[in-house]
Amino acid sequence: MERAERRGTARPERAAGRRVAPRPERRPTRGWGRAGATLVAAALLAFVCGVTAPAPASAQNHSPATQATNTQAASPQATSATGTSAATRRAGASVPVASRITLETVAGATRFSLDVSAEPRYRAFVVDGPPRLVVDFDAIDFDVADAPAAAGAVTAFRFGALTGTEGRIVFDLDGPALLSRHVFLPSIAGRPGRLVFDIVPVNATRFGYAAVSATAEAEDAPEPAHGAPGSRVVVIDPGHGGIDPGASAHDGALEKDIVLAFAERLARHLRTIPGLTVRLTREDDSFLSLSRRISLARAYGANLFISIHADAAPQDYVHGATVYTLSERPSDAQAAAIAARENLSDSVSGAIEPNHQEEVSGILADLLRRETKAFSHSFAERLISALAPGVDMNSNPHRSARFRVLMAHDIPSVLFELGYLTNTADFERLSDTAWQDAVSVAAAAAVADFFGLDPPIGTDWLAERIRAENQQ
Ligand SMILES: [Zn+2]
Repeated sequence: MERAERRGTARPERAAGRRVAPRPERRPTRGWGRAGATLVAAALLAFVCGVTAPAPASAQNHSPATQATNTQAASPQATSATGTSAATRRAGASVPVASRITLETVAGATRFSLDVSAEPRYRAFVVDGPPRLVVDFDAIDFDVADAPAAAGAVTAFRFGALTGTEGRIVFDLDGPALLSRHVFLPSIAGRPGRLVFDIVPVNATRFGYAAVSATAEAEDAPEPAHGAPGSRVVVIDPGHGGIDPGASAHDGALEKDIVLAFAERLARHLRTIPGLTVRLTREDDSFLSLSRRISLARAYGANLFISIHADAAPQDYVHGATVYTLSERPSDAQAAAIAARENLSDSVSGAIEPNHQEEVSGILADLLRRETKAFSHSFAERLISALAPGVDMNSNPHRSARFRVLMAHDIPSVLFELGYLTNTADFERLSDTAWQDAVSVAAAAAVADFFGLDPPIGTDWLAERIRAENQQ
């Protein structure tokens, strides 16, 4: 999954920027010629198995009723009623491996085809703002070497892991569009099976209705239990994960991996502090929406929330660690740009936002919000003080902007950008385990200071190290 994930996300449009897609490239009919042969053969087989194969492009008739039904019912039930899938599941088959993707326009529809070793179970839904089509797989392994350029209604797409073996494909749409057909064509004559999605433009009202339905169906994951009674709870939030890789370094190293490794190291040092309970929002390469990170922190009973990131900048000379807190108005243009990028996480990954944003109002809530803000600032300053002697800090190390992951009104929260993956010196430091240790011990000391607890084991060692460096 690791390998597939990297391949899935290191594609050109990701490298060029999340919202920037290559110009739609018309696929020649050559590709479809081959697919056409498969379709004809599969249609015969499908007839036997009782599966509906896509009609020839010219004969497609996207009636409004079909679009609405299919889009909302692109469900496992709709596709698993075949002999093939039942046999696959009975055999306890391994995770279906996706090996090849084609994307092309066919008579008004955008056709996405995925070669896959066995029939996957999946669910499709649409999300608005901006319009996206999302397909979630119960189990899939993306082993796709080359992904095609955007085409038709699809301005860009991404694929990768969600959690464990679950996977997701996100299609950015150039306007309201829905899935008009989805079908699995079983393996035949040595060719792999093929999953085919046809995406067609629809009017905004129809799309809006489908997006609202999907939001209503989004499940709330179960909440975990609180920490040990009496102890202070710090929640470490490694940014990004799964289908959302975050920023990437020139050598392909991904923010999501770097911040997870650092978060684990920080958690180890924090766990040496008596009276502190330490939780991570994610402990593997899983995707979490921004609101889910907050709801996890609240469920853990967080007294402090630290989101860990490592950014990229268009200018490679920008460097140093920065601590961000929440503010409605950004402290500066750079903070605003970073918040905008970090807030894109959900739209990159196709996460459904809850129907209502957290809007707590009233005098007491305002009081609590102000107090939380003061605590957030206090921790940010302690963290900067603890880091400053030995860590390369940004020229303005405490900045603020409207980071959605920091919006819990009742939990002091900071976003700690370790450095810039686009700066050579920062990247070398971030990759150095001794540096990671030094920074995480300093950060743990700041946490202990914040709660008035004894500093973590190793703080003396850090002080020694800093002294030694200063004497050089
Ligand atoms: Zn980030």
